[in-house]
This record gives sequence, C-alpha cells and structure tokens, in this order.
Amino acid sequence: MTGRAYLVGSGPGGLGLMTIRAREVIDSADVVLYDQLPGEEILATLPKNAERIDCGKYGGSHTLEQDAIEELMVRKVKEGKTVVRLKGGDPFLFGRGGEEIETLREHGIAVEVVPGVTSAIAVPEMVGIPVTHRRYASQVTFITGHEDPTKPESALDWEVLARLKGTLVILMGVKNLPAITAALVEHGKDPATPVAIIERGLRPDQRVTVGTVADIPEKARAAGVRPPAVIVIGGVVELYEEDGLSE
Ligand code: SAH
Repeated sequence: MTGRAYLVGSGPGGLGLMTIRAREVIDSADVVLYDQLPGEEILATLPKNAERIDCGKYGGSHTLEQDAIEELMVRKVKEGKTVVRLKGGDPFLFGRGGEEIETLREHGIAVEVVPGVTSAIAVPEMVGIPVTHRRYASQVTFITGHEDPTKPESALDWEVLARLKGTLVILMGVKNLPAITAALVEHGKDPATPVAIIERGLRPDQRVTVGTVADIPEKARAAGVRPPAVIVIGGVVELYEEDGLSE
C-alpha cells in the first residue's frame, strides 16, 4: 500500500493568503514536513494527529539536509501515509520543490503540487509596490541572492542583469546585498535606481527600508536588516507608500 504525496505552497505568510486547496490537503495529512517560512500562524493549524517534522530550512541553516528530507518523504509515503511537504510561498520558486518531486517520481510516487502565492510578488505588493507597471516596468526578473556574485562559478550573469530594464526582485539576498549592488553598478546599472527591502512581509513586525542601489547596503547595515526579506530594484519602488495600502 502506498500513501499520497503533496507538495504544498503555504503562501507568503498568514492564513489569509493560503489557498483553499492547501487547507484541504493539509487537513488530510498524516505527516507534515515543514520549513520555517510558513510561520507560526499556519503551523498552529496543522491537524492535531498529524506527525510534524521540522525541516527548519532558513537562510541556509538546515536542520535536515535536503537528501534526508527527500528520503523521509519517500519512506513515509511507502508506509502508506498521506504526506504533505509544506513550503513558504510557492513551492517551485526557489523552494527546491522541483528536486523533491524528481526524487518522489524516481520512486514511482505521484505528487500533487499545490501552487502558492509567492512572496516575490505578494510581499512587495502588500506595501504598494507592483512588480510591473505600464509606466515603470514591462518585465520582471526573479533571482536568488544566495550566490555570491564575486564567485566565478556564480550561475547568474550580472552583466545581463545590470542591463535589463524593468524590475529585479531578489530573494535570499540580504547577506550578499553589498556584493550584489556592487556587481550591478560595476556592469552599468544606474546607482540612483530605487531599492526597497521588505523584511518579514505580512508579519506584524514587517519593516521596509528604502534607498538606492548606491546607498542601500549602508542603509540596510545601519538598520540591521535581516532575512527573510524581499529586495526590489527598479522604478516601481517609487510607488511605495509608507502608510501602506493594506491595513
Ligand atoms: N518559495 C518561496 C521562496 C523561498 S526562498 C516563495 O515563493 O515565496 C526564501 C526567501 O523568500 C526568503 O529568503 C525571502 O527572500 C523570501 N520570503 C519568503 N517569505 C517572505 C516574507 N514573508 N517576507 C519577506 N521575504 C520572504
């Protein structure tokens, strides 16, 4: 007897932006493997009888290694359990969801993927920053800031990124922010381009720091900016409203 496997996005934070399908699937779970990002409000609503496994992946410090997580999922499904892998935002955007379904498929396990509202769009949106706007940006690029741009093996082409028009949205970029802005300027990005950093979006302690490509590393350092945060670079940042839209 084999169980079922679901890869579920919990949305960017809080119950309100979780989908109805995510709720249904979570409520049917025997086992929930979760990261830190879904947050306490959601984790408090996991079914009482479900086994909870904290995979604790957060800003690069892993409680469980990726291989161990995947092995555990396979084992639990083979035990006949309904297994939910719960991830922040959307499971396929910088969430390693793609790798997890590959492993499950290698073991002959079918997976239902439940998309989630991604922080990459929703977090800026909730402070009034649209990632596209007819006047400012007709394209948007999502990148991970996890890689140090000064490393030769960086998978990102900073020369191209610096030249792109539109909005650049960076996830996991807090630690490397000084190197990222330096790489962009070095390749020709206008240092006056506006930047917003939204920390802990949709949480009660959400905070926004604004500046330019030139001065944002220093402003972030002075403010003690910490992950998780979404960094938005581009003209759309001019639409940021300090008083917010969504009280
Ligand atoms: N799959 C997720 C992203 C995973 S990568 C999604 O679609 O949202 C983790 C990164 O997402 C964090 O380092 C941060 O850059 C961003 N992030 C996720 N939730 C966030 C939130 N509530 N506020 C700010 N940043 C968030």
